[in-house]
Amino acid sequence: MGIPLREIIYEIGGGIPDGRGFKAVQTGGPSGGCIPAGHLDLPVDYESLVKVGSIMGSGGMIVTDESSCMVDVAKFFIEFCMSESCGKCVPCRVGTTHMYHLLERICAGEAEERDLATLEELCDVVRNTSLCGLGQAAPNPILSTLHYFQDEYHAHVVEKRCPAGVCHMADQEVKA
Ligand code: SF4
Repeated sequence: MGIPLREIIYEIGGGIPDGRGFKAVQTGGPSGGCIPAGHLDLPVDYESLVKVGSIMGSGGMIVTDESSCMVDVAKFFIEFCMSESCGKCVPCRVGTTHMYHLLERICAGEAEERDLATLEELCDVVRNTSLCGLGQAAPNPILSTLHYFQDEYHAHVVEKRCPAGVCHMADQEVKA
């Protein structure tokens, strides 16, 4: 507890292979938030992680490098939460499914700017009305990436391109 993220990632974890740059670290398991480089000196404790939009959760960490698309990352994690939803309450059961489909549209270059507002609103509803921690935390990867990687969402929705070359969009060459 209290060890900075930078130390865990670069000293204990050995850093990022092949000299690639750091993009984000997701803490706490699939429903944790994605923390950008600007917070690498954050000490790892419950309160500090919550302040930057993430959680301690399982204590796990997933580091993404510059080759990752953060919209695709958010889609990956909400897909997991959607599949783990027990279905007992509507906000989680229906909300995670809607969030996943909205992210699918964004990644495919089919979304409009108003979809981003809908996505954010949906996250807020699911977070505040779900019955248990799964639904309440499921929006974290989306909200944190909307906050810290707004430019990537903008590129997908407005410019119809994936800056990392991960998402398969018409008219864009996909990274090999
Ligand atoms: S929030 Fe919890 S109770 Fe509600 S559907 Fe999701 S997993 Fe089930």
